[in-house]
Amino acid sequence: MENKIFRNFISNKGLKLTKERLAVLNEIFSFRGHFEPEQLYLRIKDSEIKASRASVYRTLNLLVESGLVGKVARTEKGNVYEQTFGQEHHDHMICDRCGAIIEFCSQKIENLQDELCKKNNFDGTSHNLVIRGLCKKCKRTKR
Ligand SMILES: [Zn+2]
Ligand SMILES: [Zn+2]
Repeated sequence: MENKIFRNFISNKGLKLTKERLAVLNEIFSFRGHFEPEQLYLRIKDSEIKASRASVYRTLNLLVESGLVGKVARTEKGNVYEQTFGQEHHDHMICDRCGAIIEFCSQKIENLQDELCKKNNFDGTSHNLVIRGLCKKCKRTKR
């Protein structure tokens, strides 16, 4: 399914779904979780497919543009991404010390945001809520 969406998106841009681009797509959708572009590049490098770092990063940007992949947040280590296609909506807590990511979804917060949009006569299509702080483990070793 994601292949078809990406193929359409790519061809609408007048581009081709090359072997490298397909490999990036398949690698991202072969697992469920958060990842950094560099990890993605290293995983693809370990596979049979030869794709340059630049082409992996460019393809990742195309996937974000297509809506199949979303940027979770910008951290000290770089940007963190995740698959969005086929995933339930959720928000994130990110630990500033170790980078641990906790997913959560609160119907109360979702409803409140809908209400706020309505009040502002705004048609909300997406949001990205990130709470930064210290996770349970890092709190215990706080300086
Ligand atoms: Zn932590
Ligand atoms: Zn997530």
